[in-house]
Amino acid sequence: MGGRGRGRGWYYKQRYGGGGKGGGGGDLGDGGSFGESTSGPAHLQPDRDDHDQIGNSPSGEGHIRGSVSNLRAALQQIHGKGYKAYHDIKGRWQGLGFVLCVDRVQGDPFAAPSCCRVQVPGHIAAFPSQLWQDKIRRTALCDYLTRTFAGIVSAAGGDTQQQAGGWHGEKGGDMQVDMPGQHVLERTSILINGQGDVEARFTVGLPARGRSVLGDWAANILTADLPRYVKQGLHWASQDAAALRMHLDCVEDTQSLRDALPGLGLVSFVGDGAVLPRASGASDCPMPARQAVPFKSPINLSVEMSLPNRGLVRGLGVKSGVTLIVGGGFHGKTTLLRAIEAGIYNKIPGDGRELVVTDPNAIKVRAEDGRRVEAVDISPFINNLPYGRSTTCFSSDDASGSTSQSANIQEALEVRATTLLVDEDTCATNFMIRDARMQALVAKEKEPITPFLSKIKALADLKVSCILVIGGSGDYFSVAGTVLCMEDFACRDVTADAHLIAQQFGDIPALQEAPPYGRIAARTPYSIHPPSEDSRGRGIKVSTKTIHTISYGSIELDLNGVEQLAEKSQTRAVAFALQLIASQLAARHGRNILQLIEQIDASIDDQGLDILSPQLKCCDLARPRRFEIAAALNRLRTVKLKQ
Ligand code: ADP
Ligand code: MG
Repeated sequence: MGGRGRGRGWYYKQRYGGGGKGGGGGDLGDGGSFGESTSGPAHLQPDRDDHDQIGNSPSGEGHIRGSVSNLRAALQQIHGKGYKAYHDIKGRWQGLGFVLCVDRVQGDPFAAPSCCRVQVPGHIAAFPSQLWQDKIRRTALCDYLTRTFAGIVSAAGGDTQQQAGGWHGEKGGDMQVDMPGQHVLERTSILINGQGDVEARFTVGLPARGRSVLGDWAANILTADLPRYVKQGLHWASQDAAALRMHLDCVEDTQSLRDALPGLGLVSFVGDGAVLPRASGASDCPMPARQAVPFKSPINLSVEMSLPNRGLVRGLGVKSGVTLIVGGGFHGKTTLLRAIEAGIYNKIPGDGRELVVTDPNAIKVRAEDGRRVEAVDISPFINNLPYGRSTTCFSSDDASGSTSQSANIQEALEVRATTLLVDEDTCATNFMIRDARMQALVAKEKEPITPFLSKIKALADLKVSCILVIGGSGDYFSVAGTVLCMEDFACRDVTADAHLIAQQFGDIPALQEAPPYGRIAARTPYSIHPPSEDSRGRGIKVSTKTIHTISYGSIELDLNGVEQLAEKSQTRAVAFALQLIASQLAARHGRNILQLIEQIDASIDDQGLDILSPQLKCCDLARPRRFEIAAALNRLRTVKLKQ
């Protein structure tokens, strides 16, 4: 076959780079002998009433149409016919040791690829129950299997897309498994239910020449290649047991480290030996070991923790309250904060940040000029705007640096953030400080901004901690519980020095009055998009273009300010969550943002990520936090909110 195409899922590859980590080390089996069964004749008529039932359970999803050999016969029969004939293969097919579900068939060769699932019963997949009974280990196992399954398909060239020969040439033929990045998240790519049944989801670009079905080729993919991948990738017997165990142990350790934070009065922990810097600004992989300076905690801030698998670990304990990360430019401040930001997620072994964990309710806040703000009470920070414009219910289609940062903080507190992460690099200066000379020049009543510095103690009273990267404004020394200094990528405790300097320099005007924090208003959406956008009554069409861009109906939703989104698969889930909120708005009338996102979170806990896309069992969703869903809703330019 000439002109093989781009290979490894082009749209997944855009951001996350190469393929999987190679096969699971199992035996390759005999492609011909695995995957056929002898059950009844094919029902070759289109089975359009064969709707799937909701739920992850591989059982009870409607009848089996025939065996995989019947599917092969069906595909051979439509070979050369118009592309629409592929609809004939929709439904469930029995293979040897698995069921193949063809859920959605693409309308033409250029459309989004077709969605399929493979279900392997628990007694055949045979993963020991201790690997999947507990929620964290199950998530880690599914994540691990996704990586190896994707790797097996990729190593066999199964993800190679045919695209040569122009309009009349061959196209498609690729099978894509959603390849994860560095984070271990709850995903829809592979699921394991309470009986140990394994379900793998993927897409297939059903192959065509011009607009004609290439049935023989499709038959090879679905009835010869696929059974081999299933045996290699989804059976316990063919796994590299040591690698799998390491993945699960690593995730379990990270999770238990995070769970231990509140009991120790910490909001973050950065393990000794951690590799914090990334390979480049465009890669989330670790910087190569020969270049990276491993993290080492200052001795007096070191904390020891005992982990279930790894045993004793030591590292920097970041206490609740106010922590500053100071130091000269290019000495590693932002890199440390970034690792702390990402500490809300579990990582794969070898990431370098396996022992960096953060309060799961930590939210990064920044200035975000130009963002849309709707009905936010920003009065704790901004008052007396020109011409008496309201700041207790502030809206703007083009917020400034300081108003956007105030809104970001207020929105974070509205959904119960307990730690704020702030990097001076991405803040509005006038929001952060206002020094004595400026106060002397500009009359207080003409300055709308109460700087963040003035409110930081009041935030602590609300039990909200802050970790701030500060390179330029030493005024913050006076409010800091701990001051860390990054110097040549090494971390020192300079708290005592900073406090001494603060004393020597005397009072700071911004701290002379200590106003209470002020109001945090709960807001309720009453309309998400204009009625004209919803004319067909089926909800708005959403799609995810990049990790930070969702197209929502006719508008583009910019999520560049939502820095803790880690994977495009999460963004897809966020897009569906918005659609779900919009579709339920009438039924859930009067519920505020916090209630809506908590409801979604509880439903996902209960029923899995499929609740986000009731029409189709998606193969490429990863779980976002509720905060990122709220952040997306807040940035939607059409949403209408009231306090
Ligand atoms: P700052 O915020 O202090 O200006 P950054 O955190 O942006 O500095 O780091 C500057 C550069 O140093 C970045 O290119 C980063 O990848 C690199 N870097 C950061 N930490 C380390 C480290 N521990 N080892 C090696 N390089 C590092
Ligand atoms: Mg920086």
